[in-house]
Order: sequence, then structure tokens, then C-alpha cells
Amino acid sequence: MPAADWILTNATLVTMDDDGRIIEAGAVAVQGSNLAAVGPAAEVLAAYTSENLHDCRGRVLIPGIVNAHTHAPMTLLRGLADDLRLDVWLLGYMWPVEREFVSADFCRLGALLACAEMLRSGITCFADMYYHEEVIAKATAEAGLRALCAQTVLKFPSPDAASYEDSLAAARDFISRWKGHPLIVPSVAPHAPYTCTAEILQDCAKLAVEFDVPLHTHLSETLQEVEQWRETYDMPVIPWVKKQGLFDAKVLAAHCVHIDDGEIHSLEHAGAGVAHNPSSNLKLASGFAPVVAMLEAGLNVGIGTDGPASNNDLDMFEEMRLASFIAKAVTGDPTALPARQAFAMATRLGARALHMHDLIGSLEVGKRADLAVVDLDDLHSRPHFNHSPEALYSRLVYTAKSHDVTDVMVDGRWLMRDRRLLTIDVEPLLEAAGEYARRIDVFLIEREGSVLNKLIAIGGAEQEESYEVQVKLRLEDPAPAMARLRGPEFEILRQAHYHEYDTYFLFDDPAQGRLRYREDEFVDESGAVTNVRYRLTLTGPAREREYEHSVLLSRSRFLAPATHSLRFYREYFSPQGELQVNKDRMRWQIRFRDQEFFVNLDTILEPAFQRPYLEVKSRTWSRSDAEVKAGLIVDMLRLLGLDQAEAVADEYPDLALGRAPNATSQR
Ligand SMILES: [Zn+2]
Repeated sequence: MPAADWILTNATLVTMDDDGRIIEAGAVAVQGSNLAAVGPAAEVLAAYTSENLHDCRGRVLIPGIVNAHTHAPMTLLRGLADDLRLDVWLLGYMWPVEREFVSADFCRLGALLACAEMLRSGITCFADMYYHEEVIAKATAEAGLRALCAQTVLKFPSPDAASYEDSLAAARDFISRWKGHPLIVPSVAPHAPYTCTAEILQDCAKLAVEFDVPLHTHLSETLQEVEQWRETYDMPVIPWVKKQGLFDAKVLAAHCVHIDDGEIHSLEHAGAGVAHNPSSNLKLASGFAPVVAMLEAGLNVGIGTDGPASNNDLDMFEEMRLASFIAKAVTGDPTALPARQAFAMATRLGARALHMHDLIGSLEVGKRADLAVVDLDDLHSRPHFNHSPEALYSRLVYTAKSHDVTDVMVDGRWLMRDRRLLTIDVEPLLEAAGEYARRIDVFLIEREGSVLNKLIAIGGAEQEESYEVQVKLRLEDPAPAMARLRGPEFEILRQAHYHEYDTYFLFDDPAQGRLRYREDEFVDESGAVTNVRYRLTLTGPAREREYEHSVLLSRSRFLAPATHSLRFYREYFSPQGELQVNKDRMRWQIRFRDQEFFVNLDTILEPAFQRPYLEVKSRTWSRSDAEVKAGLIVDMLRLLGLDQAEAVADEYPDLALGRAPNATSQR
């Protein structure tokens, strides 16, 4: 009689094989990495002997659970910033912190903690996407779990690469050395269409095809993404990535929240797998993925936790339950996505989504011995009904908790027995995680205290500091001064006409300065808008130097193009007050005694009609230049006949004080 390395007996087997067999009083025999026998205990014990018998004590033996999408090392960022919109969360918090802290050490530590947490909830395989993916692969293999490890590629510098070419080269190197590893399937992850270019998607697809490995990505996660694609490319995301050849590769696409029937069929036709992420989509209010339609179309839809910073845990029992409940609520149909189907998504369909179904996803002879024992006898799972097999799936999906998992085996090796982790010593890891949290806290406390640092953190102020010298005059009739501007002392270099829509963000602490979001509409002679530009300016408090009338001042400025929406900046900077100023501006760029200046004639349209302002200003890069120019401005005013005009500090009195006017002070 052949010998098995292990025989697990006295269990109810939920095989998730093609026939969906449930075997009461069952047993499995494990030889090496594989399942050698799966069947009634009497048959298995008659066919195999083993010195190692594991008594499952009547519990339920299931295929190891597949977490179809995560970013494992983000266990270290769990709870760092929550209750934010995806862009503010990602661009304002996750990416700046990742740029500062993510290293090989960070990834190893975070991945090991994730492995420990996943093992406890019966997860034996996960699809990962992060930086330093080889380090994650190594940590995962050491801990003994199976994973699809995908090296992230982005169009901008990332924590482990200065350019996309670098990360692509790293992915190639990683894949070529790890392909064929018994536990790790190496892979490449172009992060998402909106963080990649067409060229990156094409190159990643080619790489995945060349090595015949899966490609892991995020597709159609938010409505905003899809709308942007429709606007820019006149098509939604799925056909666009198809055009880039993405589906030449074996794709695992996370989210797919906003896709239509045509796109579902494209995905199905391409043999792509989908990772549905119920908690993450709920928490980030991304919307409801059409999971029922996807499953009906025959798509392989697995379930993923997504990263522990957007979930915030790695509990697949919770995800299975949510997947089923959300589908019912969204379709208005309580028969939608029954427990059996939800459990399939977490096992056999998940394995298919990862393109790993030859190895895992069910308890079948020849597949890897990846399995978990679940105790369904605790208080919350009782009593048991046995008149229908559905009752067992219902217990697994609707009542079981992750801590009901007692034992986990991967690749024929025990990783957890009696709820004790055998390959990971959690305590020192948690201590190190606490140390990262302390350092990140210090970083964030310092950053949150400074508007400038927050601006720098989102890449909004790469330009160096400059100084502005300016004077503002309130005029009854600007015509005489404008006529003198055409005199021989002044050379007019350029003239333009704008509508400017300014939103000032005001902060209680005047030392923070004020942040202005400006929408500049350039207007041609016929009054038509020909160009729009968005700019962000952080102006320091006006304390550099005060000249005559106390209003000719210079102050520091940081200028940057505004690449995000006003809503994004409002949520990210959370100012204490806001003020809108809309004005019509005639602008002359002039040369006076070899120095350039701007002369602006402003008519304020909002908040209230006032007399026009004339503004003379110049920007410099040193304080000494600012002083020279300040002297020239005084001379200019004399030549323009404006030396007696009423000078004011700002176009709106409260702005000069750096505070919001009462009427609009609170949002
Ligand atoms: Zn994700």
C-alpha cells in the first residue's frame, strides 16, 4: 500500500470540484505537494498508509481560500487615513507616505504580517501588486504561502524605480528568475490605465506574453476614470486597454466596477479574470460591480480584499458574505449570488481568475495540497441542518468567521495547526510595525502642520520660492493712467485679456499664508474664451517689507499648475475659510528701465461691484532684486500720475488680513 506524507481524516470535504461534491466522513491523502486521494475516509484509509494522521474532528475541510487582489505590505499603512475620497486618499496620503517610507525592509515586514493575517482566515494563495515585489515573493515563500506576485509599473517614479523603464526591467528580471517557483507565480502589474501610458500597457502585455505569466492590473474602478476615458478617447476603459493589446496576456483585472455588458463580454472573450473587492468598493464608495452579470456571462470572478489600507483587513470570510449580500441588495433579488456561488468565487473561480486553476481552487487528486480546516461547531454556527447541501455553504459564507479556521496547509506543508502559526513569529513583526507607525506619525504631524509641506507632498510646488513686489491702487477713472502707460518711458511687450476665477483657501494661522486656486480664461478680441489654465499659488504672509503707504509689499510665492480639481484641493487642504473672487483683467506686460513688470487693470465682478483696481507687480527670485523693483514701482507711479492714488493691500479687505469674510467664512 502506498504511503502518504499526511492523511487528514474525519472531515466533511467541501471539494469545489466540477461536480461540487460534498463528502461526509471524508479524508484526503497528501503526497509531497499534492493531493493523492480525496474521498470517503474508508476508501482513502484503505488505499494509503501514513505515519502522520491528522484528525479533523468532524470539522469541515475546504480548498484553501484565494484572495484575488491585495497589496500585502500595506498592512503597515492600515488605518493611516480613512473616510477620504479615492484621489485624496491615494495622492494626498498613500503615495506621499509610500514615497517616504516604502523600502525593501518595509515590504518584507508588511508582507509577512499580511501572510500571518491571511493564514488565520484560511487564505492559502493571494494575488499581490506592490513595489519591491521580489522581496514580497521571498517573504511569502518563506512563510510558505502561495502567491501571484506582480511588480508594479507606473508612469511616474515609484518607491522602487526612478522611471517606468526601470520598473519594467525589474519586472522582467524578477519574472525570469522566479518563473517555475513551486509557490510563487511572478507577474507584472501596470497599475491602472490612469497611472500608466498606452506604451506601458503595451510593454507590460508583451512581457507577460513572452514569459507566459499573468498580468495584474486595476480596471474601471471609479466612474471618474470611465468618464475621463469616454471624454478623452471616446470609449470606455475595457475597449481602450484591449486596443493596447492588454488582453494578449492572461489578465487579472481588479475592480471592474463601471463596465457595461459589452465590456463584460470582451473580458470573458479575452479569458480575463476579475477580482471583485466588496469592502474596498464600499469603503471608497466606488460603486457596485455588476458581479451577477459577470458571473452569468461566464466570467471567472474571484474575490479580493484589496490592500489592508482600503479595507481595512484581510478577512475573506467577511468579503464572501459581503459579495453575496451586496449582489442581493443591488439586484433587488435575494436569490442572487447564493452562498455556494460566493464560496466558489473565493476558491475555484478565484483560482481561475488568477490563471492558476491547474494547481489550486479545489480538493482534487493531482492538485496542490492547499487546504484549510474550519470549525463550524461554535455557538454562532449552530444548529446544523443537513436536509440540503446548501446549508453547509450557508454556514461557510453567512455564519463562519475567519477565526473559525483552525488549520491550514499549503503545498503539503502545515502553516497553521490548532490556530498556531508555524512559520511566522508575529510578535517581533508587530513591534517593528509599531516603530514604522511611530515614524509615519511624526512625518504626518509635521506635514499636516504646514500648507507648504502639504503642497510639496502632492508634487504641487516643485518650483523654487519667488518674491512678488506689488502695489494695488483703487481708481475712480483709470483712463488717464492708461494713456500715460503708452508714453515713451514704457515699452509694452504684450497685452492680454482674461477672466479670472479665484478661490482663496484661508487658514486660521496667518503664518500659513493663503492658497489660491485660479482658473484663468484667456479672452480674444471678440470676447471668446480661447484658452483656460489652472494654477495654484501659495502666498506667504506679507511681512517681508513694507514701503510707503504701507501697501507696497513683497512676499514669498510658490506657483504650480493645478493638475487636480478644486474639490480635490478643498478636501485635501481643508481650509478654515474660503473666498471666491471673479474678475475681468486687462494685462500689460511692460518694460521700464530695463526691468519687466505687469500692469493689471482689474474689474471685480464678484463678490460685489467695486471701483476698478490698477495693480503693478513684478516677480523676482531674490530679495535684493525685489527691493530694486520696489523702488522702480514708486517711480512708475509718479510717471503715471498715481502717486496720490488710494493704495490698498488687497482687492477684498478681509483677504489682506488673511481671513475669510464673515458671509462666506464657513463651508
Ligand atoms: Zn488594488
